[in-house]
Amino acid sequence: LTTSPQDRNETVAAIREAVQGVSAQWGRDYWRECRAKGRRPSEFMTGLAEAGLLGVGVPEELGGAGGGVTELVALAEALGRTGVPLTGYVVVPFFCRVPVMKAGTPQQIDSVVKPTLTGEASVAFAFTEPDAGTNSFAMRTRARKTETGWRLDGQKTFISAADEAPMLLVAARTGPPEGRAELTLFVMPTDTAGISVTPQNISVNAPEKQCSVYFDAVEVPDSAVLGLPGRGAAYLFDGLNPERLVAAAGAIGLGEFVLEKGVQYATERAPFGAPIGSYQSVAHPMARAKVGLEAARLFTYRGAEIFDAGGDAGHLSNMAKLTASESAWAAADSVIQAFGGAAFDLDNDVLWLLEPLRLTRIAPLNNEMILNSIGSHLLGLPRSY
Ligand SMILES: Cc1cc2nc3c(=O)[nH]c(=O)nc-3n(C[C@H](O)[C@H](O)[C@H](O)COP(=O)(O)OP(=O)(O)OC[C@H]3O[C@@H](n4cnc5c(N)ncnc54)[C@H](O)[C@@H]3O)c2cc1C
Repeated sequence: LTTSPQDRNETVAAIREAVQGVSAQWGRDYWRECRAKGRRPSEFMTGLAEAGLLGVGVPEELGGAGGGVTELVALAEALGRTGVPLTGYVVVPFFCRVPVMKAGTPQQIDSVVKPTLTGEASVAFAFTEPDAGTNSFAMRTRARKTETGWRLDGQKTFISAADEAPMLLVAARTGPPEGRAELTLFVMPTDTAGISVTPQNISVNAPEKQCSVYFDAVEVPDSAVLGLPGRGAAYLFDGLNPERLVAAAGAIGLGEFVLEKGVQYATERAPFGAPIGSYQSVAHPMARAKVGLEAARLFTYRGAEIFDAGGDAGHLSNMAKLTASESAWAAADSVIQAFGGAAFDLDNDVLWLLEPLRLTRIAPLNNEMILNSIGSHLLGLPRSY
């Protein structure tokens, strides 16, 4: 089934083929081992880099492979289809380099964007705070101007792979200490004096750790500011719609991955003689999830197409992320029900999907905020927050 015009795009087809090649070499058993040992999937990342896939979305003059959000979305979907979750190793560097490519100095591009092309540890995104949560503009991490640069104090939470990344992209409040924050973005080495990183006790069935990052009187020079002070929100918003589309595509891929496993099992398993897939109670939930995944693909690839053409893909990005995350979760639920007790046999490689797929309804932005936005901006309902 091909529901989107991008299925006929040669670059998209080449990306899918290249991902299948890398994943065939470093498949699910390899991922499970990395997860169990909590180790970086270095071989897989190197494989992606050698296939040119980590350069998708980066212009050729910066050493990338070119392409826009359509190609990034195809990459994310293809990874999911081979059972690779969009971990912080892949999606965070992709997101961080968007504002740096837009507003960064040549030195910042060298230190943040170029390392994302090699597959080695690169950059972590320090945005979310324990108290502010979804209400990012209530963040407390503050950057104050000094004679020689800036001084940062505060705390971040859930920062993916910050324990490995040599560089941090940090959002801090400049301007008034209270009220809606004026945000400034900073690029700084993680080993800058005053920064400490502590892994948190979080499980999302991915190899990387999520970390608390503390800033205690961290002094950075003026050259650490990305673009102009106070313009951080504008730089970040440029990356939010692509991030949502990429998150949607990753969920669609994983949803298809689990459905394929479910269909195979339901075709073979026959405790009463007939395959359980012939029972509508088993087939319909899977069929319904398939419809949702196909609808999500339409939103996702259309959103990417509009974004790449310079249009406003805000609402489509929201619809894509909402539909993809809910349909992929429904797919996993229907397949687990079809597997019955066998779902809990870890060798069947199904149960692990619960954590990464459930997460897609919460991060990078929870679905309630997406519905808030559709309610107020598309329907014209009064704003709730
Ligand atoms: C595995 C993982 C990796 C992450 N990686 C990163 C990272 O690398 N960098 C980074 O900066 N952040 C990261 N995050 C943070 C992530 O973006 C946040 O968890 C997410 O934005 C939600 O914030 P919160 O958890 O504080 O939820 P809260 O703000 O506490 O909200 C909790 C729930 O309340 C509801 N809710 C909240 N506000 C509203 C509202 N206005 N209307 C209706 N309902 C609402 C929603 O259901 C929401 O799920 C990561 C999180 C996880 C779990």
